[in-house]
Parts: sequence; structure tokens; C-alpha cells
Amino acid sequence: MKYDVAVVGAGPTGAIASKYAARNGARTLLIEEHSSIGSPVQCTGLISKAALVQCEIGEGNFVLSRMKGAFVYAPNGDELTIRGKDVMAYVIDRKVFDRELVEHSLDAGVELMLKTRFMGLQNGGISVLSSGVIKDIQADLIIGADGIMSSVGRAAGLPRCKKFLSGIQFEAPYHARDPEFVEIFTGNNFAPGFFGWAVPFAGMARIGLAKNMGYKPALNYLEELIKHPVLASRYTGSRTEHVVGGIPLGPPDRTAKENVLLVGDAAGQVKPTSGGGVYMGAVCAKIAGEVAARAARKETDTGEYEKRWRNAVGRELSIGMIIHKSLGKLSDENLNEFIGFLNRPGMSERITKYGDMDHPSVLLKELLRGADKMRLVRLLGVAFKTLF
Ligand SMILES: Cc1cc2nc3c(=O)[nH]c(=O)nc-3n(C[C@H](O)[C@H](O)[C@H](O)COP(=O)(O)OP(=O)(O)OC[C@H]3O[C@@H](n4cnc5c(N)ncnc54)[C@H](O)[C@@H]3O)c2cc1C
Repeated sequence: MKYDVAVVGAGPTGAIASKYAARNGARTLLIEEHSSIGSPVQCTGLISKAALVQCEIGEGNFVLSRMKGAFVYAPNGDELTIRGKDVMAYVIDRKVFDRELVEHSLDAGVELMLKTRFMGLQNGGISVLSSGVIKDIQADLIIGADGIMSSVGRAAGLPRCKKFLSGIQFEAPYHARDPEFVEIFTGNNFAPGFFGWAVPFAGMARIGLAKNMGYKPALNYLEELIKHPVLASRYTGSRTEHVVGGIPLGPPDRTAKENVLLVGDAAGQVKPTSGGGVYMGAVCAKIAGEVAARAARKETDTGEYEKRWRNAVGRELSIGMIIHKSLGKLSDENLNEFIGFLNRPGMSERITKYGDMDHPSVLLKELLRGADKMRLVRLLGVAFKTLF
């Protein structure tokens, strides 16, 4: 078996990278260790309109509901309402979404092997365990789209991401306050370093949290989260679809070497402010697929991928990481003050106008103008002085 490009992992980034490699003239193989695409799901499935555009997929039957805003709860119970001009995001069924993305790559000519696990790099390709049999597959370029634990990255000796969060979530019947609004819960007793959420769809919600690694197990924090007065009043008790998973933050210093490149969670291309990886992963996967196809023909090298993806999203990721670190250090008292700061008269219009869930730096830049700057710097820390 001889391919120009072999893509490991048929999640969203592997599907898009393989489609772009094939479209750019490469004979492309996509392998996936599971027997079906999109399962198990490790995602809340909240993605922006822009993410759908980046994934080159219209509003398909994977859309479960449409979100127009968010209620953000401070630890003291104060709430901030963020109202979008229109639909800001979709709640999606990741199984159906991932399958549709893979169908697009098959339409572009990609060959797919399910139940095929990447085992190691070989001179001139990869070795895989396919339906119980070890096989060698020749490929000039290898794209590791194999998620947070990336075996391809490890085999290539590429460094790991800077930080990992642990996430946990379940689905349950839920009486949403407004079915078009996501709920965000802040507080160090249930989500140290990050936040909890309830994302409603069709009379249900995905209720979960992500937190810094260490401390107690995530399940203990989930038990605390569901005691939150807002959640406790709307969640009636049963649970399905448990999800436990890690979220990588902060790309490693290198994501490509010789004939290997990493994309998506494997490369830490995840928004540090929300933990969302579909948008950034899609942007970078297109670059990965195109560069891999041309590198297989010796028209370029994998260094071009490193440069181009960092030019496209590197600055947003760096700023996102500073915001993440600053917010993650806040005590509950500081979180109350920060949410109070965003709740002042006139702010909500600015948040609606400049808020962009994929590019939080745009709103931050606006908030750092004029009189707000010193108050924000005092609230969030000195690192903010150097941002803009
Ligand atoms: C609790 C939680 C909630 C989240 N919520 C959101 C959200 O609301 N919105 C959002 O945008 N993002 C969210 N994310 C992040 C999002 O799920 C990931 O960023 C996204 O799935 C990354 O896509 P990927 O293609 O890079 O990797 P993955 O989706 O992880 O796909 C990797 C694929 O590689 C396969 N694979 C792994 N190893 C091998 C191997 N050795 N051989 C062959 N195949 C292999 C896996 O089976 C998998 O199919 C969430 C994450 C968690 C943990």
C-alpha cells in the first residue's frame, strides 16, 4: 500500500486535512482506530457559525439547536447576560457531524480504513494494527490528527502541549431558562481554573465542567456543580451520555518535523478561553492537508505548515492563553468583581458588538481602550499591559 499522505485519526481535523490533501492531488489514506466515526464523543458540541464555515459544511441535520447568547453566573450569584445580534453558535450532534465531514473527504477521493490503529513510524511510512493484523503502509507524509494523546507526536519525538484541563459532562433532561442561551457557571469550588456549563437542546442539556489538572477528581467537582442553585432548580436528576476527557491548551513549540505534522488537539490548536477545538483545528487542518500534498511532491517542506498555521491563529492562541491564565488565577471575590465590571451600563452593547467566541482578543482590545484599561489590568494582572 503506497500513499502520498496518511492521516491518522478521523475526527474533524483528520477529515478536513485528508480532504485538503486529496484535493491538492495527493493519494490520501485516512485511518481511524474505532470501528465507526465520531464515537466515543468527547465534546459539548457547541460550535460557532464561523466554525461551520471553516469546516465547509452547511447547517446539516447534526444541528440540534441554535444559541443566541449566554447567561454567565458569578460565584456570588450575580448574572451577566451576553446577547448576540443573531444566532451565535450551534449545539451539534458530534457523531453525525464527524461522519458528514468524513463523507466530504471520501467524496474528495480519500481512502478510509476503520479499526486501524497507528502503531509507529517506519522508514517511509507507518505501521498499523488493522483488524487484528500488523501491517506496514507506505506514505511520504504523515499527518497526526489523533487527538490529545497523539501517538504520532510521541513517535516523532515532538513536544507535548503546554497544559491540559480535565473535562467531565453528562446529558440530562433540563428546564432551560431560555433554550437559546448557554449557561456558564464560575467558581473555584466546582471549576478551579475554568468554568462549568449547561448547554440546552431539545428539553435536555449537556451539563459539565473543565478544570485545572490536579486537585480532586473531576467527578467530585461535578457533584458540587449540580448543587449550584441555578442548576439545581432546572436539572431533575437522571443522567445519560457521560463524557470524561482532556483538553490541551497551548501548542507545543514544534508541531512538524521532517515528514510528520500534527494538527488539531494533537497540536494544541484549541481556544484557551473556551476549550473549543473545532474552529481552530479546521483552520489549521486545511493548511496541513495542502502543505502535506505539496511536500509529498517535494514542492515544499513541513516547515511551511508550522509558519502558516502560526500566522493564521498563533497570536489569537497566545492572547487566549494569557486571558486563560489570568482568569484562572482569580479568587471567587475577584471573579465577582470582574463579572460586575462587565455588567456596568453600556458594557452589554460593547460585548454584543465586539464579542466573538473564536476571537476573544477583539473584545479584549476594545475593553482595554481608554478608561477601562487600568481597571482591567488591576483586575486581571500585569500581563495584560503587554498585550496590545
Ligand atoms: C468535555 C469536552 C467538551 C468539549 N466541548 C467542545 C465544544 O463545545 N466545542 C468545541 O469546538 N470543542 C470542544 N471540545 C474539544 C473538541 O472535542 C476537540 O478539540 C476536537 O474534537 C478535536 O478534534 P481532532 O480531530 O483534533 O481530535 P479528535 O476529535 O480527538 O479525533 C482524534 C481521532 O483520532 C483517533 N485516534 C487516536 N489515536 C489513534 C491511533 N493511534 N490510530 C488511529 N486513530 C487514532 C481517535 O479515535 C479520534 O477519532 C471539548 C472537549 C472536551 C473534552
